[in-house]
Amino acid sequence: MHLGNIFSFALTAALARHTNASIFLRIDDLDHERVQTSYLQDVFDTLAFLSIPYDEGPRDAGDFQNHFSQLLREPLYHQRLQSLRDRHLLFACNCSRKQLAGYEAYPGTCRHKNLDPDAPNVAWRIVTGDQPVVSFHNIDGSLTTATLPVAMTDFIVRRRDGKAAYQLSSLADDTFYQTDLIVRGQDLLDSTLAQSFLSSLMPDHPLQHVSFFHHPLLLNSEGEKLSKSAGSISIQYLRTHGYSAAAVYDLIAKRIHPGFEAGSWQELAACFLKSHSFQTRKKP
Ligand SMILES: [Zn+2]
Repeated sequence: MHLGNIFSFALTAALARHTNASIFLRIDDLDHERVQTSYLQDVFDTLAFLSIPYDEGPRDAGDFQNHFSQLLREPLYHQRLQSLRDRHLLFACNCSRKQLAGYEAYPGTCRHKNLDPDAPNVAWRIVTGDQPVVSFHNIDGSLTTATLPVAMTDFIVRRRDGKAAYQLSSLADDTFYQTDLIVRGQDLLDSTLAQSFLSSLMPDHPLQHVSFFHHPLLLNSEGEKLSKSAGSISIQYLRTHGYSAAAVYDLIAKRIHPGFEAGSWQELAACFLKSHSFQTRKKP
């Protein structure tokens, strides 16, 4: 968990409180091999250390494994995949990463090959057509309409290892948990468009009831996006080096603007939201 995650959490908490929504803690673990218990524990430790509230979802690592892990919802993902398959909206692809290297978009190599979807080691791709128009609702009530990015042409919905891909599992989870507000970084805008496209193919079009807020990303001093791989400071590091929760919030506020000050998630979110005037539809 790094500073960027906390900025996102603070905004989520503030927007949820503002719209009378409850906050759901969601942790994706479909990449099971990459999930370590220590990462999981870090999520709970960090939320507790920074006093970030949530109303629903796992209370600890054990509760997560037993009741919220994505592995428990795999049948749900496969139902969604089967429904797409039954309607001939998918095709199997055996292109290797190497074969696709250098292409900005999937070149359609396997689109008409009629490969057996049940063969081992094939991914399933959704037929997107040529940059279809998709739309989603924003938190302020406006509608964003855009073409599906070229990079999302025939995007993968089932991976070669047979697991549901992120776009599919994410949409299925949002439906399962009846999510109605999604707060995420602008780096996930293309995913929102892919998920909106996928949703439009589902008989229940689940995302038609969902509003989105895409927030700017917190950048490091070199102007790059914060992520673990870029060697950003983890909350765990700051905590073990004597930073208080208030000091962590202030550090994040100063990344947004050197003149900002914050000592809590409420103040951090307020810093951002007042500099970024927009209205939200308040629920009754
Ligand atoms: Zn292919």
